Amino acid sequence: MFPLGITFYPDLLPKEEWENNFLKIYEAGLNAVRFGEMAWGNIEPKPGEFCFEDLDLMLNLANKYGLKVVLGLPTASAPQWLVARNPKVRPMANDGVLAPEYGPRPNACKDNKTYRKFAERIAEKMVRRYCSNPALLCWQLDNEPCYPPLDLTWSKDFCHCKDSNKAFALWAQSRYKTLDELNNAWGTKFWSMGFSSFDDIRTPKVGFWDGGNPHIYLEWFRFKSDSLSSWLRHLKEMVKKIDPHGKVGTNSFIDSPNRIPDHDVLAEGMDWYGWDIYPKGTANSPDSLSQHADFWRSVASGRGAEFIVSELQAGPNVRWGNPAEVYAKEIRTWTHQFVAHGARGILYHAWRPPLIGSETGGFGLLNPDGSRTERLAGVETAAKEIKKIEEILSHHKLMPQVAIAYLKSSDIETFQEQGFPRGAPPGWIQGRMDIGLMHGLDSIAGAHRLLWRYVDPTAFIFERTLSENTPPFEAVLLTNPYVLKEKDMKVLRKYVYDGGILITEARFGLKDEFARLFERPLSEKFFDVTYEKTEVINDAVEIEGLPFKALGYRDFVSVKEGVLLSYKDGRPALIEKKIGKGKALYATFSLFLSLIKQDRTSMVELLRKHLPKPHATLKASESVEMVYWADSTPIIYVINHGDSKEPVEIEPMVKYGKVEDILYGKRVEILEGRIKMDLEGREVAVLHLSEVLS
Ligand SMILES: [Zn+2]
Repeated sequence: MFPLGITFYPDLLPKEEWENNFLKIYEAGLNAVRFGEMAWGNIEPKPGEFCFEDLDLMLNLANKYGLKVVLGLPTASAPQWLVARNPKVRPMANDGVLAPEYGPRPNACKDNKTYRKFAERIAEKMVRRYCSNPALLCWQLDNEPCYPPLDLTWSKDFCHCKDSNKAFALWAQSRYKTLDELNNAWGTKFWSMGFSSFDDIRTPKVGFWDGGNPHIYLEWFRFKSDSLSSWLRHLKEMVKKIDPHGKVGTNSFIDSPNRIPDHDVLAEGMDWYGWDIYPKGTANSPDSLSQHADFWRSVASGRGAEFIVSELQAGPNVRWGNPAEVYAKEIRTWTHQFVAHGARGILYHAWRPPLIGSETGGFGLLNPDGSRTERLAGVETAAKEIKKIEEILSHHKLMPQVAIAYLKSSDIETFQEQGFPRGAPPGWIQGRMDIGLMHGLDSIAGAHRLLWRYVDPTAFIFERTLSENTPPFEAVLLTNPYVLKEKDMKVLRKYVYDGGILITEARFGLKDEFARLFERPLSEKFFDVTYEKTEVINDAVEIEGLPFKALGYRDFVSVKEGVLLSYKDGRPALIEKKIGKGKALYATFSLFLSLIKQDRTSMVELLRKHLPKPHATLKASESVEMVYWADSTPIIYVINHGDSKEPVEIEPMVKYGKVEDILYGKRVEILEGRIKMDLEGREVAVLHLSEVLS
């Protein structure tokens, strides 16, 4: 079963309306509902006083209408009695301020023992009560697990409470056998920061931009991801003891910027990993949605988990971001886009807009009074269509040819060197977003645009996977390679030697895994260059022979051979190094960032000559996307994200004799191996190719 459902919170509605709403969800063609994840206070209104009648009824009604339940274990938002009676559970900011009451979540620190004790108790009670319930589909741990701030609205850093301090010190102790090792990794000789006891370790209150120790700050972010992950895995173990066959996962959100926990770490041990996405709220373009879907699928599949879209915007948002209206046609194409990129389940958010709370009036697929919106039709259509194609899709797999490597440590380090944009005397640097807070995101976006509509889908790989094995892809785009282990460099060298293609950019291996500067950067060994210095580019640097400018950072290097492009000042801008059966391209500027800040046509054309040939080529306007599902009888998912009708021509590398659009159950013409069709605005074709011609 492909779960296509919706988040629905009956406990926010009068009870007499519940059944009718479950019935309507069923009638819309949906098969799953999610609730419970925020309901702690409703289930345990007073300490130790549990009241499961409402939840029982919700599951019974879901069961009555054949709806499967993603049941949230409600540890994301602690009840007021817990917070009020145990003020120490409140997360503490780096400046000592406690997270406000009655407000943002998470409102309790996950390192706090009191919070954990109560959270475990309610979670366990729920698992015992519902593990055999016929409506249960899977468990959701917590909701968008993170340390505050939830949506990056504060520049404060969390959590610096007593328990987090203790947890950080213990984490450090488990990582380093001796204090000497720790002091060496954390560079504590500088400014007399050496530790003489593990007990003296405290959480770092500031980063590099405030004169703080950058190595400790980098480790601090690693700790935060590890600590959240160990809490999730602890909860999962508890669930599995009671419900050994139950599926357990969690959901997460907000891209991959530096301050958010490392998704690759959070997904560890999960059976499913969810992505919460609000395409209108965060004003995502179709290409960025594909990028993030590829990112999330890779996070999940890299950990052997199922990729689920756990919240997909079903109505206009409130409070944050862009409150633009959401339309049926958009919901339908988003659904297909995410299925095309490998989602194995989608939950829209939400069924009814809440009449109360900090999301009052937001996100509803229905109107506040429960009547239909125009959007509901989009969901109904999508539900019918997914039902039609899910069986055949389940027998196919996405097989990306190219991977983008995203290095979280590099991203954190890049962010902390610039810090938050902040007030400063005139003429001082005040923090540049493009080479700080946004650098990592801009870099992976640029790398993705190089591949989008060419070799689609794309995979993402992470620090862990890079260190473990040579990547199983024909090419790797290594973005922001600033913090790089010597071991990673060796893996990459072997990868290229064995025939891989590597494309990378400025600041290659300037710092080691603890962000300590190498005396000589790793680029010297890898590319046989002589490195002089790295500069921040203030005015774009022109490149000889191309209408394309270098932005971001620039490495000044000299090299004997292999220069593909030079700057106007004669220095090398793009260097090709052949190693064994493969090759590596080294742009001495921030190539990937530069790709999204200007017309990239000329550079894309040049770089694609070095990439593997795609399984099929697409000729169509920019609004049309094609996702190739490689197989002996491949599937080509074609989506027109624009509003106007577009001619589409697709030429697969292998010639097939038969093409069927499995969405509409009709044959599509294929002439001399070429598929030609017109695709209406916002229309989708799911082409199944068969009968290989010799
Ligand atoms: Zn804490």
